[in-house]
Amino acid sequence: MRKIIISNFKMNTVPSDMKAYSMQLATKTAGSKNKIIVCPPYTHFCIAKQFLDGSKIEIGAQNVSDVEAGKNTGEISASMLKDAGVTYCIIGHSERRSKFKESDRLINKKIKMALSQGLKVILCIGEDKVTREAKGACAFVKNQLDDALKGIYENELESVIIAYEPIWAIGTGKTATLKDIEKMVGVLRKEIAYLYNDKTKINIVYGGSIDINNYKKIISLPCLDGALIGGASLDVDNFSVIARENY
Ligand code: PEP
Repeated sequence: MRKIIISNFKMNTVPSDMKAYSMQLATKTAGSKNKIIVCPPYTHFCIAKQFLDGSKIEIGAQNVSDVEAGKNTGEISASMLKDAGVTYCIIGHSERRSKFKESDRLINKKIKMALSQGLKVILCIGEDKVTREAKGACAFVKNQLDDALKGIYENELESVIIAYEPIWAIGTGKTATLKDIEKMVGVLRKEIAYLYNDKTKINIVYGGSIDINNYKKIISLPCLDGALIGGASLDVDNFSVIARENY
């Protein structure tokens, strides 16, 4: 089955690492049926574009501004990303929500801005440990989804990938169980059916401590369309194995 495999470098590596990474990833995944999206830091886009050219690998950003241009020192706009050859952007990663205090309202604005500029969106959704332990995970992710998709039309959802990323699983070495993933992805699909209709299609991937040892059983889950991989995507050999796998 064709899956979507997304990397998130976070704030790791330097631009000069990107040439070798891109060339190796393109070579090692050539012929793979999967959709592969690499999300390095902004400074790497130009090199990534140059050395991924001719491959089907797409480039994603890890963030985007909610406004188009102007007096926003340090921000990056959707049109800048588009012009730099970027096709996707991650919005609402838990690190941005917690460290940079990004609200659901801001995330909704960012999604609208990205889509209006022709960028596709990887929307991160997920509960923290306290919420899970208090048995509030299902209600929490439903709310996050409702707020994020306010005013987004059904036909725009083909440009949106939802990444279910429980915060307690990100970078901790402890993935959610297969049962947890199936349950939470089911909750998200049901909410999409409620918000739109039961024929509405949306791609949902899982992220949180996927690595070279556990990737296959998680990504092969029929309820999942793929994976978002942080730490393990920094090693191009490992990421290539995961990205080219036939699921
Ligand atoms: C992430 O950064 O979104 C992520 C899933 O990281 P990791 O794979 O390292 O848990």
